[in-house]
Amino acid sequence: MSNWYDLLQHVEPLEDLPLDPDLVQSLESDWSALAGCDIPPMHFYTPTFKSCRTSELTDCGSKTWPAVSVTGGDCKLQCDHCRAAILKPMIPARTPEELWRVVNGIVEDGGRGMLLTGGSNRRNEVEYDAYYATIRRIKDTFPDFRIAMHTALVDDDVALSMEQAGIDAAMMDVIGSQDTITQVYHLRRSVDDFEATLESLVKTRMKVVPHIVIGLHYGRLLGEWNALEMLGRHLPDAVVLVVVMPFYASENRPFVTPDTESVGRFFMDARKALPETPLLLGCARPPGIARQQIDAYAVMAGLNGIAHPSDGMVELAARLDRRVRVTPACCSIAVGDEVMAVAGDSAGIELDLEAVLAQERRRRELARVSVTGPGGIRVVARAGAFTAGSDGCRGG
Ligand code: SF4
Repeated sequence: MSNWYDLLQHVEPLEDLPLDPDLVQSLESDWSALAGCDIPPMHFYTPTFKSCRTSELTDCGSKTWPAVSVTGGDCKLQCDHCRAAILKPMIPARTPEELWRVVNGIVEDGGRGMLLTGGSNRRNEVEYDAYYATIRRIKDTFPDFRIAMHTALVDDDVALSMEQAGIDAAMMDVIGSQDTITQVYHLRRSVDDFEATLESLVKTRMKVVPHIVIGLHYGRLLGEWNALEMLGRHLPDAVVLVVVMPFYASENRPFVTPDTESVGRFFMDARKALPETPLLLGCARPPGIARQQIDAYAVMAGLNGIAHPSDGMVELAARLDRRVRVTPACCSIAVGDEVMAVAGDSAGIELDLEAVLAQERRRRELARVSVTGPGGIRVVARAGAFTAGSDGCRGG
C-alpha cells in the first residue's frame, strides 16, 4: 500500500485538503504498530448515506432522541463558550408534571429515548432532585424508553439517586484545567471535583460516557491531557470527543477555532491513553475545512465512531483497510443508540471498499446533477448534510 499521504490524494473530496504530513506519518506509523490486533470497525453515523437507508432509520435523531431541559433555556453559569445557547432549542420541562407530559408526547411520536439536561446552578450542578420520582415513573411505565442524562457535577449520593431513578447513561464534561474551570466556567470548583464526579458515576450501574470538549480554553488546548489521565484512572464505557465551536462566544471573551493539527495530535494521544475505550467524535465541531481536517485526523487516529462524517471519510476509512460500518441516522452519538450500545459491533451495516466506492460514485454523480437546475441554471444546494450542531445533537 502506498503511504497514507499519497493515498489521501485518491479520495476525491480530500485531494486538495491541507493536512500536516508529519502528523499523517505519525498516525500511519502508530497504526502499523497495531498490525495483527483485533481492531474494531470504524462506525459512521450519517443520515445521508442513502443506499443504506432503512425505513426505520431515515428520521433525524432529533425526533427519535430529543433533548429536554429541566430549566428551559435558563442557566446560572453562563460559561463563556456556550452562554446557555445549547439549551435554547431543547424541549422545556420545568416541572416534573411537564416532564411527564413531554415524555408521553415523545413516546406517542415514536421517540425511543431522550437526553435529559438543564442549566446549571452556580456550583455546576443541575438541580434534578424534584424529578427523580417522575423519572422512575417514566422508566416503570415505558421500560424501553432510554434516558441519557447530562449529570454535571455530582457526589456519590446524587449519582446513586440517578441510578435508582433508572437513568441509562450518564454524561458529563471532564475538564482538566483549573484555569479553564475558573475563567471559562466562572466556577469555584476544582479539577478534583470533576474527577470525584467521574469516580462517583463509574461506581453505579449507569453507562458512563463523559465528553472532552477540545479547545475549551478559548479555542486552545490546555487541560485536555489531564482529562485523559483522569479518564484513565476511572475508565468509563466510552468517551465522546467534541471540538469547541467559537460562534456562541461573546465579543468580549472570544474563542478561536482550535488548531486542527493540535486536535489531530490530541486524537492520537487519546487513542494511546485509552486503547480499549470506545472513542467517538461527536457532531459538535467547527464547520468548513477545519471540520474536514478534524474528521480525516479522527479516521487516521483510529477513533471508533464519527457522527455526521464530512465528505470522503467513509471512503478514506475503507481505503485505509478499516472495517466500516454505517448507521443511517444522525445524532445517535449525542444521545441515542451509540451511547446505549457504546460502540458495540452489532449496530449498523458493514460495507466493503467496493460498496463504498460505488456509493460515492453515485453520490457525486447525483451531486453534479443536483447543483444544475433546469436549463443549466445553477441552483443552491440545500444546506445541512454535513453542518454542525443540528438541534438534537447538543448536550448541555
Ligand atoms: S455549558 Fe452548560 S453550564 Fe455552561 S452555559 Fe452552557 S448550559 Fe450552562
